[in-house]
Amino acid sequence: MAGSDPTTIVLIEDDPNIADLVDLYLRNDGYRVYQANNGEAGLALVRDRAPKLVILDVGLPGQLDGLGVCRELRGHSDVPIIMLTARDGEVDRVLGLEMGADDYVTKPFSPRELVARVKAILRRADGPTRGAPTVLAAGEVEVDLGRREARVGGDPVALAAREFDLLAYLAENRGLALSRRQLLDGVWGLDWIGDERTVDVHVRQLRKKLGDGFPLSTVWGVGYRLD
Ligand code: CA
Repeated sequence: MAGSDPTTIVLIEDDPNIADLVDLYLRNDGYRVYQANNGEAGLALVRDRAPKLVILDVGLPGQLDGLGVCRELRGHSDVPIIMLTARDGEVDRVLGLEMGADDYVTKPFSPRELVARVKAILRRADGPTRGAPTVLAAGEVEVDLGRREARVGGDPVALAAREFDLLAYLAENRGLALSRRQLLDGVWGLDWIGDERTVDVHVRQLRKKLGDGFPLSTVWGVGYRLD
């Protein structure tokens, strides 16, 4: 956020009370917010406004719920997505992460907490790695920290922002067995209060996208190691 233009966020939420509250907090923090109250309008807004981040409610009215919007977005964009899920929507959370959401917040949530998540994700997406043109290799996988790009056999692979962060962290710590907790702290941040299964969901996505040439081992009882 070094520039003078405010960072743009698209908020897709059908509950006007929640939407206005989140909007207020984000604006107070200097973000520019565009709101949509259904999935179709949300997708159109993302297309028109090219936001830096999307906040997406899972339970939206109409044909396209939040999971559908997430899937649709990931078809052409790696914009960071934070999902808003219902308290007992465990399935929604897992599905959301599998579809490439970067994080989720469970309702009811404190707007302050959500803003903290937004900042953490934008910090990562903007990244301290910018301007450091380091390329790490693991098996057939190249991790280009400068371009924030993963390549397999020279071909770029589309990863969600958090998937790339996880891959970069593993690559920076090649040869070390890392616990799920270490990965959560290193990639999601110390203030992230989440389930360790989040790591497994993202690892599954990385394995699926990077294929057999991705030398990641599961270390039983510990976590993961990139060789
Ligand atoms: Ca809703």
